[in-house]
Amino acid sequence: MSTRTTDATAPPLPQPDSLTRPFWEACRRRALEVQACEACDHLFLPFGPRCPRCWSSRLAVRSASGEGRVYTFGIYRRTYHPAIPAPYVVALVELSEGPRLISNIVGCAPENVQIGMAVRVRFTDVGESTLPRFEPA
Ligand SMILES: [Zn+2]
Repeated sequence: MSTRTTDATAPPLPQPDSLTRPFWEACRRRALEVQACEACDHLFLPFGPRCPRCWSSRLAVRSASGEGRVYTFGIYRRTYHPAIPAPYVVALVELSEGPRLISNIVGCAPENVQIGMAVRVRFTDVGESTLPRFEPA
């Protein structure tokens, strides 16, 4: 039986594993990093064991600028978790280097978010985690 207690009002946070821990540790340092394939030069997220393009396991890590564009998004108008009150925006952000990641758009009203909008990363500390969210650039 687990002795771990869960606070139903605590926000859900990333659960880094051996593959994704470097990404989250970089966020903690206010750095956005992507994985780079040394065989075909493909850049991608999330971190994984192999390149999703050529299946090579020769992988490295590269710094990303933190700049990108809103590829698509949705506005959540209902609160699904007490720590994340609505309204809020969940977006697929395409980094200027190419990889896409799911995040939140912050620093503007949800109604002002648009597809193609230029954004830049803004790191937010939540508990022991640092989340890469995006704001209008
Ligand atoms: Zn590759």
